[in-house]
Amino acid sequence: MCGVFGFWSKKRPVADVCYLGLFALQHRGQESAGIAVTDGMHIDVEKGAGLMAEAFKNRLPSLKGYCGIGHVRYSTFGGSSFSNIQPFLASGADGFVSLAHNGNLNNALKIRSRLEEKGLVFQSTSDSEVMLNLIAGASGSAAEERILSSLAQVEGAYSLVVMTGGKLIGVRDPHGFHPLCLGRSEDGYCLASETCALDAVGAEFVRDVRPGEVLAADGEGVRSYSLPSRGRRSSCVFEYIYFARPDSDIDGLNVWEARHAMGRRLAREYLAKHGREGADIVVPVPDTGIAAAIGFAAESGIPYAEGLIKNRYVGRTFILPEQKTRKTTVEMKLNPIRENLKDRRVVLIDDSIVRGTTSARLIELLRSAGAAEVHMCVSSPPITHPCYYGIDTSIRKDLIAAVASVDEIRRRIGTDSLHYLSLEGLLEAVRDPRGGNMCVSCFNGRYPTDVSECVIEPDGSKTGGPSC
Ligand code: SF4
Repeated sequence: MCGVFGFWSKKRPVADVCYLGLFALQHRGQESAGIAVTDGMHIDVEKGAGLMAEAFKNRLPSLKGYCGIGHVRYSTFGGSSFSNIQPFLASGADGFVSLAHNGNLNNALKIRSRLEEKGLVFQSTSDSEVMLNLIAGASGSAAEERILSSLAQVEGAYSLVVMTGGKLIGVRDPHGFHPLCLGRSEDGYCLASETCALDAVGAEFVRDVRPGEVLAADGEGVRSYSLPSRGRRSSCVFEYIYFARPDSDIDGLNVWEARHAMGRRLAREYLAKHGREGADIVVPVPDTGIAAAIGFAAESGIPYAEGLIKNRYVGRTFILPEQKTRKTTVEMKLNPIRENLKDRRVVLIDDSIVRGTTSARLIELLRSAGAAEVHMCVSSPPITHPCYYGIDTSIRKDLIAAVASVDEIRRRIGTDSLHYLSLEGLLEAVRDPRGGNMCVSCFNGRYPTDVSECVIEPDGSKTGGPSC
């Protein structure tokens, strides 16, 4: 996952606004950050490793201009080098093109080889640079035209902010995998991965960018164009389960609401099997499990209690690239409240189980704090298939539910019982009961695009383009 942000204004320092917007999107990427700003003649880019405050060394970027884009990055596979930090920049028909991307392409390797055969030299290993070079090399008199013809060639997930020819351009792929929204303030236009970033910069939400839509903003207003259709809409359901901030709205549904509904539905499914007896308290894994735990408690009548306190200054575990780092971070991140847990039979609510290592450590923590029993309830179904759309679940053998049954997972993570939300329950919670609008491929293996290029070798190495 990554976060993208863009701002166009002749009245306000756009670099400051981009900084604040990206700060609000920090949960979407913590490895690096960058901002590019243009005054129409020149373009300046500042980039750095780490959180926004680290990347910009605790100061606002000193970039001047009226149009800016930025990116917070979370790389998934061997792509953490400086050359992969976005926004990317290339020379183009209007002087330059700069681009920031959230997602992952499914045919980047093919296009990259084709461009390399023509003599193009890539600066990074990122699939985002493939799109940048397609756009920079495209013919057509208007930037929108060049973007439309370039993106018609790519497949996969891309929510983009692009800056070229003095315009701010937002693009959401035809399946609408990841979110992108348009905001407006009295002094400019804003594009952001999530609505929480619009709130942070004082912009008013106008609307979500539609799947397949290209939006161009400049002094003449906002204009909309369409990419060719690629089949059904497939918005990533994981945005609601885990990635997005609960105060964001995506495609008309508030993320907290969706998580709360997942918790209520999970409680109904749990109670149907186990009844109300046998549990004393419902405890969330903070922060992403909180809304679901509140919903679970409300539906079940089992009291809600805090049992784990999060150190807010440690990054999200799942979002860090190395397995070794992941384990250390869990231990640094959560501490039990012994008084609330001692001798209690705990229903522990978490949003998902990916590899199982975090869950095992959490159960251990609760037991060491004196919990009499731990029943784990997960507000999503078992993740059985990799994601090829920009989420760090790209190697199947690393997914515990791909290689073990529910009972085997229960045994491995050391919990007294284990319950997953059903797929029907999840789709009901996100108001898509027929599953016509959501991507749920990591739960059922049915991919809405051709993912044959993204092959995982027997040794675990990925031959697809590195994910954003
Ligand atoms: S496969 Fe899963 S994580 Fe990836 S886009 Fe689809 S729902 Fe989201």
